Amino acid sequence: MARYTDASCRLCRREGTKLYLKGDRCYSEKCAFSRKGYPPGAHGHGRQKVSEYGLQLREKQKARRIYGVLERQFKRYFVEADRRKGITGEILLQILESRLDNIVYRMGFARSRNDARQLIRHGHYTVNGNKINIPSYLTKPGDIIAVREKSRNRPFFKELAEWGAAQGTVDWLEVDRDNMSGKILNVPSREELDIPISEHLIVELYSR
Ligand code: SF4
Repeated sequence: MARYTDASCRLCRREGTKLYLKGDRCYSEKCAFSRKGYPPGAHGHGRQKVSEYGLQLREKQKARRIYGVLERQFKRYFVEADRRKGITGEILLQILESRLDNIVYRMGFARSRNDARQLIRHGHYTVNGNKINIPSYLTKPGDIIAVREKSRNRPFFKELAEWGAAQGTVDWLEVDRDNMSGKILNVPSREELDIPISEHLIVELYSR
């Protein structure tokens, strides 16, 4: 499957915000965005005027990059969000948040969504007791996500458990750190999502 393989930090600089793609590094002084908060490239310092279309496009790209979703799949999520009753932008975010890689990250069972994707592909997690190795798997309220029993005793996951405990989690998830498992309590409302995205710009972009 195609995926983005360029330097992650360039994406943060391009979007003008920290996207937290590299785990611990993002919180350290090594963070490239903290050191060079301007767009990458020879003309990075010079770009200023952005058209309405440009703003909408950037917002969509930012969302895609935060969640690590390719264009075609992102468009599919939008079509699904548009089809459902309710506020399209909010539903779009809720679909993105329900991806297994996001849930694993939010529960603190991976240091970033990128890490979560890799670990999921390697079969380290279960959903309702079944091994799932598809990062884009869409979860729902009531689902129980866990680190596989075989993986739990590995030093890597023990360290991860400590790291996750220090991070805490969001109100719409319940995490049992001792058993490295968690439950999705509800679909998060927009207020419960700390994502720095103006989703209405994405809706406007696709409605052109
Ligand atoms: Fe972005 Fe993390 Fe790189 Fe900082 S360290 S620029 S937040 S990916």
